[in-house]
Amino acid sequence: MKVLVPVKRVIDYNIKPRVKADGSGVETAGVKMSMNPFDEIAVEEAVRLKEKGVVSEIIAVSIGEAKAQDTLRTAMAMGADRSILVETDVVTEPLSVAKVLKALVEKEKPDLIILGKQAIDDDMNATGQMLAGLLGRPQGTFASKVDVTDGSVTVMREIDGGSQTVKLALPAIITADLRLNEPRYASLPNIMKARKKPMEKITPADLGVDMTPRLSVVSVAEPPERKAGIKLDSAAELVSRLRNEAKVI
Ligand code: AMP
Repeated sequence: MKVLVPVKRVIDYNIKPRVKADGSGVETAGVKMSMNPFDEIAVEEAVRLKEKGVVSEIIAVSIGEAKAQDTLRTAMAMGADRSILVETDVVTEPLSVAKVLKALVEKEKPDLIILGKQAIDDDMNATGQMLAGLLGRPQGTFASKVDVTDGSVTVMREIDGGSQTVKLALPAIITADLRLNEPRYASLPNIMKARKKPMEKITPADLGVDMTPRLSVVSVAEPPERKAGIKLDSAAELVSRLRNEAKVI
């Protein structure tokens, strides 16, 4: 069984993003970039399925600048067998990414596509759903447990107030949520080995996909600063302030 795992290069989750002076976006120059955390979970799940003997090949794919090669190398150090870089300098939006992935799915014919539930840069949470729509295939989004049995995959999904289990016929699309697993760190020997794993480089035009953005960013702003908190001496004072100052009770 073949698995395709799309991985996005985003600002590292430990970095506090800075808004560009002209409000057109978030500063990425000179900022540490890493694999989107939910995509690490997706790669880990694919690797665990391979370790169980369910999966025979894992292909990582990234759509973006040449530097996304680093993200693909990380995916291969974690256990992906090979990778595809779809190189573009254009901002990647969910619909254009989903179109690129659709073309790759038609070419590679994976049985399972495991994406992250969302990329932490734009928080779109849309690419997996759009890909399933474009392909007309079943989807199990926000997965917290995945079980593959002949010809189908059972996915436990995180939903408001609990969980829901769905059974999907393969080929299917899954998006990984936080509780699915804890991704491994790539070991040094595996990082070295990953340098020798194959990486194919193509462009969206090779796949017949037009990446022209359809969304325009109106403005990006820092969240308003929170006022400092205060310590009160008693519950009575809290009630009085809530009633007379905040006027919420
Ligand atoms: P989003 O819909 O942008 O929140 O992204 C959801 C998921 O789609 C991510 O976790 C990735 O698995 C995948 N994805 C989005 N953009 C890209 C990209 N440029 N390259 C590779 N995968 C992507």
